[in-house]
Amino acid sequence: MDKINYYNVSLEEIEKFKNLDKKPRLALHACCAPCSSHTLEFVTQFFDVTIVYENSNIYPEKEFLIRRNEVEWFVGEFNKRNNRDVKVVFLPYDHEGYMASLRHLANDKEGGERCKLCYAKHIEDALKWGSEHGFEYASTTLTISRQKNSQVINEVAKEVAPKYPNIKYFYSDFKKKGGQERVQQLKKEYNLYQQKYCGCEYSYRDTVLQNNGQKEDQNH
Ligand code: SF4
Repeated sequence: MDKINYYNVSLEEIEKFKNLDKKPRLALHACCAPCSSHTLEFVTQFFDVTIVYENSNIYPEKEFLIRRNEVEWFVGEFNKRNNRDVKVVFLPYDHEGYMASLRHLANDKEGGERCKLCYAKHIEDALKWGSEHGFEYASTTLTISRQKNSQVINEVAKEVAPKYPNIKYFYSDFKKKGGQERVQQLKKEYNLYQQKYCGCEYSYRDTVLQNNGQKEDQNH
């Protein structure tokens, strides 16, 4: 498959509406405060943004609440410092319901088929919520993550988006053009909470527990 420059795709889309009097509304799935940081700097130039915070993939619930509260705090602070008006909506936490269709892929490596299903759920939640509330666009912050393949995320979005014909998907590659470096700066500036694993119990097992195990091994 040829690689597509999704950063350019996002700029081409913006060209279509950037001279309109009113910014289109964007329902943006956000996974955490660090991934929201530069993404909001970028998208709020062109969109009236509402973050759709669902993330029932996160385990345990205590960790979900830490990340949720951090996003809420960050958006308030971001609005104050940048004179923006980003809104946030919180969808109910339903970890068992979210993971039901992913459990058979428990032993998949991070970035594999389980994660594609997970991306599809996040993207679908933003599209569904946005289309139910009359928004023009939906998207996700996931393409800013260093650990995630933007090509894969956008390909997944192409499969999900046709189910919601009354809203457009905003294809992106937020990590490009210094986006990822800017996240590192903003994390320091806002002193943001940085999680140690992607979200679900399998990523916790494969990163945090594995790292702890390695440390223990080194001590022996
Ligand atoms: S590792 Fe991350 S993207 Fe993959 S299934 Fe778990 S929470 Fe979702």
